[in-house]
Amino acid sequence: AAARASLERLVLDVHDFPEPGIVFKDITPLLADHDAFRTVIEALASAGRDADGNVVVDKVAGMEARGFILAAPVALALGIGFVPVRKVGKLPRETHAVSFALEYGEATLELHRDAVAPGDRVLMVDDVLATGGTVRATRELIEACGATAHAVAVLMELGFLPGRETIGDLSVTTLMTV
Ligand code: IMP
Repeated sequence: AAARASLERLVLDVHDFPEPGIVFKDITPLLADHDAFRTVIEALASAGRDADGNVVVDKVAGMEARGFILAAPVALALGIGFVPVRKVGKLPRETHAVSFALEYGEATLELHRDAVAPGDRVLMVDDVLATGGTVRATRELIEACGATAHAVAVLMELGFLPGRETIGDLSVTTLMTV
């Protein structure tokens, strides 16, 4: 609990960003703190292991942009590869694409068609679970490749939004709920 409280102090509330009425969770102070960053990466990586510590996923998918910062070191911690889920128009080769509504605005996400192989189990990693639209779209991209979305691990869940309902039966690992 003490460790969790010290992590929470490193996430700052920024009012009216990026739009009036939104309280944005700024994780950059946490990333700048080596002990906190390492603690977070180890905790997120545990979502890719079974109770005996065996790695049970084949790839880690990170969602642009803050998801990249967390997902890449999680992949290294698990000893597996990282794949980027990007905003539309950024990936250079053939992609699958899914459009969805955000907490603020709308977005289209893409994944290279060969980023994950049929049958792969994929751990999704992002900073914040808000409405769940990003995770649901990422799951659809993974499934369009014939792979399976094994679980999602996020630093923070906004508990006042229906993220868990949106993503259905998926296992969620979260380090803090606000
Ligand atoms: P969702 O699709 O509504 O669940 O929103 C999650 C996505 O929006 C994640 O990729 C987050 O990076 C981003 N996001 C939403 N709210 C916040 C916030 O308060 N702080 C940082 N990122 C946020």
